[in-house]
Amino acid sequence: MVKALYLDDSYMKEFSAVVESVKDDKYVVLSETAFYPNSGGQPYDTGKFIKDSEEFNVVFVGKFGDVISHEVDKPGLKPGDKVKGIVNWDRRYRLMRSHTAAHVLSAIFHKEIGALITGNQLDLEKSRIDFNLENFDRDKIDEYVLKSNELIDKDLPVTVSYMPREEALQKPELAKLAKGLPEAIKTIRIISIGDFDSQADGGTHVKSLKEVGHLEIIKCENKGKNNRRVYFKLEE
Ligand SMILES: [Zn+2]
Repeated sequence: MVKALYLDDSYMKEFSAVVESVKDDKYVVLSETAFYPNSGGQPYDTGKFIKDSEEFNVVFVGKFGDVISHEVDKPGLKPGDKVKGIVNWDRRYRLMRSHTAAHVLSAIFHKEIGALITGNQLDLEKSRIDFNLENFDRDKIDEYVLKSNELIDKDLPVTVSYMPREEALQKPELAKLAKGLPEAIKTIRIISIGDFDSQADGGTHVKSLKEVGHLEIIKCENKGKNNRRVYFKLEE
């Protein structure tokens, strides 16, 4: 199983690793990686590998079972090569801010009206969250965004911890996600925002809320009877 360095240190921008395998001259698996793979609604990292003085651009990162595979833009790497990995930090940091913002917004929606998230997709320009919600009042949404931004101003710490699966299943707020994870996963990774919110999560987050900046709603859509889609972005 590959060591995913971003799980415990979301701020790692550079790392050293050994190439374990290369498929079709472009799909590279490393001994460990700080590159985040496309998963859980958070887009993949980009960046580069450096071997001696040669650079290989990382154009896509995917997760296949326990394996994290990096797609590079040219051939030349082989098993045993030592590489330095450099994550495109502007892209990643923006996605980290958006991901934490999505947790804040979902937590507020959940606390205020009991809405549950049914899906989410983060992106650089705009992100969306789907809520299971019958009624949809635009004024209320604006109020929840205001509350989200007030919470962000409190600058609560955002922390990573781990919990045995059985324990997570006992906690109502974590049980829904924990149940959805494969049985083989015995330890659940938890992202907590102070004592305001905890979610089972595999993504990368900022370490204090202020780094998010404020968020604003772009638009809201009805996607079927109980499905409401909210698009948001980070304020510049
Ligand atoms: Zn998340």
